[in-house]
Amino acid sequence: MSVAAVDLGGLTESNCCAACNGDHCVISGQPYCAHPRKGGLHHHQLQSDQGAMRRLQTARDMLLRSATELQIASNKA
Ligand SMILES: [Zn+2]
Repeated sequence: MSVAAVDLGGLTESNCCAACNGDHCVISGQPYCAHPRKGGLHHHQLQSDQGAMRRLQTARDMLLRSATELQIASNKA
């Protein structure tokens, strides 16, 4: 598991990371939440913040993967 994936622990479709709170979001690294389903990064960070962009991409990948896993699980049931 990569460092980024550990940092993003607790992330789901509806909730951001366990370590995300009102003062600091793990994804944006800023005092706003950049959860992929809540609008993602603010425009200015999309241009300039490589680390935040990478975390947002990792978050998207995690949601995609967990959605796929849920689908597999429900197919088995
Ligand atoms: Zn967040």
